[in-house]
Amino acid sequence: MSVNQQAHAGPPYGQPQPGYQGYQQPAYGGQSLPGVPQSQYGAYNGPMPGYQQPVPPQGSLRAPPTSGAPPPASGASHPSGHLAYSQFEHGDVQNGIPASAAPMQRPPAPQPFLPGSAPTPVSQISTFQQYGPPPGSVQQLRNHMAGMTIGGTAASAPPPAGLGYGVAPSSYPPTTGAPRPPAMPGPPLPGQTVPAPPSSQPNHVSSPPPPPPPSTMAGLHPGPPMSGLHGPPPPTHPPQPGYQMQQNGSFGQMRGPQPNYGGAYPGAPNYGSPPGPPPPPKRLDPDSIPSPIQVIEDDRNNRGSEPFVTGVRGQVPPLVTTNFLVKDQGNASPRYIRCTSYNIPCTSDMAKQSQVPLAAVIKPLAALPPEETLPYLVDHGESGPVRCNRCKAYMCPFMQFIEGGRRFQCCFCSCVTEVPPHYFQHLDHTGKRVDYYDRPELSLGSYEFLATVDYCKNNKFPSPPAFIFMIDVSYNAVKSGLVRLICEELKSLLDYLPREGNMEESAIRVGFVTYNKVLHFYNVKSSLAQPQMMVVSDVADMFVPLLDGFLVNVNESRTVIASLLDQIPEMFADTRETETVFAPVIQAGLEALKAAECAGKLFIFHTSLPIAEAPGKLKNRDDRKLINTDKEKTLFQPQTSFYNNLAKDCVAQGCCVDLFLFPNQYLDVATLGVVPYQTGGSIYKYAYFQLETDQYRFLNDLRRDVQKEVGFDAVMRVRTSTGIRATDFFGAFYMSNTTDVEMAGLDCDKTITVEFKHDDKLSEDSGALLQCALLYTSCAGQRRLRIHNLSLNCCTQLADLYRNCETDTLINYLAKYAYRGVLSSPVKTVRDALINQCAQILACYRKNCASPSSAGQLILPECMKLLPVYLNCVLKSDVLQPGPEATTDDRAYIRQLVTSMDVAETNVFFYPRLLPLTKADVDSDSLPAAIRNSEERLSKGDIYLLENGLNIFVWVGVSVQQSLIQNLFGVSSFSQISNALSTLPVLENPFSKKVRSIVDMLQGQRSRYMKLIIVKQEDKLEMLFKHFLVEDKSLSGGASYVDFLCHMHKEIRQLLS
Ligand SMILES: [Zn+2]
Repeated sequence: MSVNQQAHAGPPYGQPQPGYQGYQQPAYGGQSLPGVPQSQYGAYNGPMPGYQQPVPPQGSLRAPPTSGAPPPASGASHPSGHLAYSQFEHGDVQNGIPASAAPMQRPPAPQPFLPGSAPTPVSQISTFQQYGPPPGSVQQLRNHMAGMTIGGTAASAPPPAGLGYGVAPSSYPPTTGAPRPPAMPGPPLPGQTVPAPPSSQPNHVSSPPPPPPPSTMAGLHPGPPMSGLHGPPPPTHPPQPGYQMQQNGSFGQMRGPQPNYGGAYPGAPNYGSPPGPPPPPKRLDPDSIPSPIQVIEDDRNNRGSEPFVTGVRGQVPPLVTTNFLVKDQGNASPRYIRCTSYNIPCTSDMAKQSQVPLAAVIKPLAALPPEETLPYLVDHGESGPVRCNRCKAYMCPFMQFIEGGRRFQCCFCSCVTEVPPHYFQHLDHTGKRVDYYDRPELSLGSYEFLATVDYCKNNKFPSPPAFIFMIDVSYNAVKSGLVRLICEELKSLLDYLPREGNMEESAIRVGFVTYNKVLHFYNVKSSLAQPQMMVVSDVADMFVPLLDGFLVNVNESRTVIASLLDQIPEMFADTRETETVFAPVIQAGLEALKAAECAGKLFIFHTSLPIAEAPGKLKNRDDRKLINTDKEKTLFQPQTSFYNNLAKDCVAQGCCVDLFLFPNQYLDVATLGVVPYQTGGSIYKYAYFQLETDQYRFLNDLRRDVQKEVGFDAVMRVRTSTGIRATDFFGAFYMSNTTDVEMAGLDCDKTITVEFKHDDKLSEDSGALLQCALLYTSCAGQRRLRIHNLSLNCCTQLADLYRNCETDTLINYLAKYAYRGVLSSPVKTVRDALINQCAQILACYRKNCASPSSAGQLILPECMKLLPVYLNCVLKSDVLQPGPEATTDDRAYIRQLVTSMDVAETNVFFYPRLLPLTKADVDSDSLPAAIRNSEERLSKGDIYLLENGLNIFVWVGVSVQQSLIQNLFGVSSFSQISNALSTLPVLENPFSKKVRSIVDMLQGQRSRYMKLIIVKQEDKLEMLFKHFLVEDKSLSGGASYVDFLCHMHKEIRQLLS
C-alpha cells in the first residue's frame, strides 16, 4: 500500500479544522459525520463584501465572457496577510557570536587542514570545536592519498560519465547466457489473480505447438480495432495505415526462436531447443510488426492540428509525442492527468478479467505552453472553498445544483449540501447556475482556491519558504573546480529565484552552509561588512549556531553574499579533507527551517560516500555479485533506516531536499536518495564530473532546478466517485496514512501515479469521476489548493475498455510498479510478472473482443499494439536487466528517477527518439522523421541523433561524406572527430546550424539537460549507444522486438489454450 505507514511525529495539521478534517474522515460511502462542524457556513448571510470578482475562465474560448478583466494575478491579496518574518524581526539572537561582529577570518590557507597545524582562530563560540584537524591525522593523510588516487584515475581516463557507465567492452558476457532454472511465478501484479500456470513455464517445457499452417502466420490484420500478426492479407486488402506491409509474400511464418534466444529468456530453457524438428528459420519481417514511429506519426497527423477540447467525458487525448493545444472545458488537461484507460469497466470482475491496470498519472503543477492558460485563482472568502459536507470534495463542474440553487448534490458521494448564502446563485432553465461561465470552479477542469488559515499548519499562515545552499568543500569537490563553479554561478542565479506572478522580487530567503566532516554556517546579514563563519563540528547533535543573519533576503544582503561566494573557494582551496558527512547536513538545513518556522528547499552538492563519523554514516556495500540473486533487492534498499526517519522529520517541516551528486566512485545513491525521494525532491548525478565537459550541463540543471515552479508543504488527495477508489501511489513523496500523499516540496516536473480499484459497481450512465486536490504553499508563502477534475466513461463491454486505453500511460504505470517491485522481489520475478500481466491483457482481448481467427494469429488491440515493444524496453532497462556497464548507483538513480516521470518522459526514456540528422531539411524548422531503434535502420553514410531524456548521442557512420564531417565537427576526416566533445562546435554553415538548433530544441523539451555524447561507428563507445537501440537484442540478454513479440504470442496462446 503506501510506502510508509508510520504515523507522523506530531500531526502537521493537528488542529481540528473544518477544512482539513475532510482528510481524517472516511471519504467514501461513509456516513455523514455528525461531528463535522456545519457552522463554518452559518455565519454568512450574504455575499462576502470582499468577495473576489469572478473572472472569465477562458476569455475568447467561451461565451459569455464577463468584463474581460484579466484573471486575478496569482498574488491576489489576502485579507489576513502574512505573519512572515515576525519571528525574525526582533531579538537579535546572536547565539554567542562576538558582539563586535568581527569579519570572518579566512583560515590561513595551508594551516587548518594539515595534520598537526595549529587551530585557526575563526570567529566562533567556545562550544564549537575548532576548525582544525581531528586527532586522527594519520587517517586523514591516508584519505588524502586515496583522494589523490581517485582524482588521478578519473582525470586520466574518464569513463563516459553522465550515464555513469564505465566502459568495459571486454567484460561483456556472452550473449547466450547459460540456461537458468525455469521461471517461477512472480507475485501477482495489482489486481491480478495469481496466474494458474507459472508465467513462462509450461509452454516452454512442453513441446512447442506445431507450427501453424503458413496461411495463418505472421501477417497483418487489416482493420481496426485490432492489428496484429496473422495470415497474409487477402490480396484486395489495402495496407493498413501505420504499417509498411510486405506485399511480396515474404512475411511468411512467424519464425522460430533464434538459436540464442534462450539467453534472452533464461526462464525458458527449452524454448530454443524443442524436441522435434526445428521450426522453419524464416524470419518475421520487422517491417510487418507494429512500428512505434508509425503510430507516433499517425497520431501527429490525425490529432496534432486540432486543439484537444476537454468538454466531453472519457475522451482519449492525443499521444504525448503529438504537439497539441488544450482547451479546458470542464476536464483537466492531459498535461495534468493521463489515464491508462478512459473507459473503466463497470465491475471489478471485468477489471480483473482484463488485467488492465486502472491508473492515473498526475502532474499537479505541470508547466503549460505559453498559449495555454494557467489555472485561475478563486477566492471563496473567509469560509474557504465550498465543499461537500460529507466527502469534502471541492466545488467542481460536476456538482449538481438543486432546489433552485439552494443546495447541491455531490458528484462523488451524492450527499446534499447547503449552498452557503454568499455562494448562492439562481439556476437557468437547464438547471445550470447563471454564473456558470464566470466561475472557474463551475466550468473548468483545473483551477485553484485560495486557502484559508484553516488549511495551514498550526493555524498560522505560512512564511515564505527559504532556499539553503549546502556545498561539499572536501578535497574532491574543491579539486575538480566544482566549489568555485557553484559559487560563481550562485552570484547570478540568486537573482532568479521563483517569483509569484508580477511580484518585483522573490520572497524566498537564502542561506549558505559548507561542509566536509564539519559544518560551516555563514552569517550574511545585510548590516555586516563581511560574512561570518561559524563552525559546528559536533555533528552528532546538529544544531544551527545562528538564527539572525542565516536566512536573508538576496537584495538586502547582496554585497555580503557576493563576498562570501568569493571567499568560499579561496578558504578551502588547499583543503586535504576527503571525508564527508551527509545526514548532519540535512539535519542542519532542517533545523534552520524549523528555527525560521518556514518550509523550504535544501540544495546539497555532494561528492562522496559519507564515511566520516556521524549519524547516517555509510559503508561501501556495493556488490555486483548480488545481481541476479535473491539478494539483489538489497542494492536498491537503503543500508540504514536512519534516512527514512530523517525524511519523515523533513516532510513534517516542509523541508524538501534536492541533491546534486558528483561521484567518482560508489556513493550509495539508494541510501543518499531516500530523503530527496521522500520529500518530493530531485537527484542529479554527474559521475566523474569534469569541469570542461560537464559544467554546462550541471549549470543548466541547477538553473532550472532553482528557478522552476515549486510548491511546499504539499498534501495531495485524490477523491473518486462511488465505485472506485485510489488504492496505491507511486512517486517521490511520503505517506503517513493510506490516502494523503505528502510532499515537503512539489515542483512542476514531478508526477504521482495513482492506481484505482473497484469497491462497488459503476454505471455507464454516471461514469466515474476523479478529483485531485493539492494543498500547497506557493513560493511567496500563499496557501492554495489546486484542483484537477476528470470524468471517465464506464463500460460493460470489454471492447470499450480496449478501445480507450493509452499504452504510453500503461507503460508509465507498469514501469513504476516494476521498479518498486525490485525493492522486495528478485528482479527476475518482477520481469516475469510483467510479462505475465501483459500476456493476460492481450489474451483477454483476443478471447473477448477479437473476431474469431486461428490460434496462430497474434491479434493486438489497436490502442495497445505497441504494448509488446514498449514492455520489452522496460524489461531490458538497466534496473530490470542491467548491462555490465550499469553501476549499482546508476540503477538506484534510474529507479528513483523513473518513479517521478511523467508519461512523455517514460515514453522517450524507454523508447528513445532516433533522428537521421543527415536527412534534416536545413531550410525548415521541422525535425527529420524519426526512425526505429534498430541497428539495421542505420546507414554508415549518415549521422544520427538519439535522445532518451538523459542523453543525446550523435552517431557518425564510418562512410559519412567528408564535407558533412567538416560542416558539423570542423575537422577534415572521420578519424579526427573527437568523442570527448560535450557540445557541437559552433560553425557558420547551414548543416551545423540546423543540427545545433535540433539539439537545442530537444534540450528545451526535457526537464534535465541531456549529456551530449559523440559516438563514432565501430568505436568502443558504440557499445553504449547500442544499448539504446531497443528493438535489437541487447548485450545484457534482452530480447529483440521480434523475438519478444514471438514470445508474447506464445504466452498468449498458452493462456488461451
Ligand atoms: Zn461528497
